Amino acid sequence: MLRYDLHSHSTRSDGLLSPRELVLRAAHRGVDVLALTDHDELSGLEEARETARESGLRLIDGAELSVSWRELTLHVLALGIDPSCPVLIDGLQAIRAGRASRARRIADALATAGIPDAYVGALRFVTSESLISRTHFARFLVDTGRVSEMKDVFRRYLVEGKPGHVKHEWASLTQAIDWLHAAGGRAVLAHPGRYKVSVSGLRELLAEFRDSGGDGIEVLSPSHSDAQVDEFARHARVFGLLGSSGSDYHGPGESWADLGDMPPLPAGVEPVWKDW
Ligand code: AMP
Ligand code: MN
Ligand code: MN
Ligand code: MN
Repeated sequence: MLRYDLHSHSTRSDGLLSPRELVLRAAHRGVDVLALTDHDELSGLEEARETARESGLRLIDGAELSVSWRELTLHVLALGIDPSCPVLIDGLQAIRAGRASRARRIADALATAGIPDAYVGALRFVTSESLISRTHFARFLVDTGRVSEMKDVFRRYLVEGKPGHVKHEWASLTQAIDWLHAAGGRAVLAHPGRYKVSVSGLRELLAEFRDSGGDGIEVLSPSHSDAQVDEFARHARVFGLLGSSGSDYHGPGESWADLGDMPPLPAGVEPVWKDW
């Protein structure tokens, strides 16, 4: 049975490994099929593809799109896209365009909370200003000794209700799905267990996602408990959605799971890769 890992990040968004290092690590760890899914960004795919060709691993071209739905930010994985598709390229460009101004608002909020110079501080950790993310602020706060661990930074500073959190409007759900479909990809709702929604809110989200053309949900994610894996396997069947599996790997020391660590998809879930 092939080992799939359909969710990972490189230095082209908020990962710690270059696309090349990431692919080599995945191959070394026995991953057969890897998707590179940088946040709102396609620029790592070429290097990843070249490395995949050398190492005998199959690369799936992907991205993780930032979406606003109601009061929430959702992440939608685009899997198997054509990275040269102008509709998708323009869409991602529009999402990224908001990142720098959002980051300035995050820095202003942190300054008000007594932490100056966070914008230039976070910039030290990015490869391009247009992809600056909360992860880069988190690395800055850990680097300066304000907080000892990455996960604590989010809890104390960067999530809703905390001093460094700001509201932001990303793409709409239908825009994101339409763009990635234009590029021939499949739309997978990433880590559905991470969204703060009620039981009925989750049903509404899954129904709206499917009715907007969504193809699948990430059943296996290291952020899911065993009970959530069962729950999302059931939701996939009930809502007629495909199932996906991904480690959401960001780099050594910063991830819950390593590349290829996920168990097989639960029985009865139709895999997103069924006709690849
Ligand atoms: P952004 O797209 O700028 O909102 O940043 C989101 C990224 O922050 C996610 O993709 C994760 O890599 C990271 N992140 C979010 N929440 C947490 C958390 N609780 N602990 C560690 N990393 C997190
Ligand atoms: Mn990330
Ligand atoms: Mn995500
Ligand atoms: Mn991710």
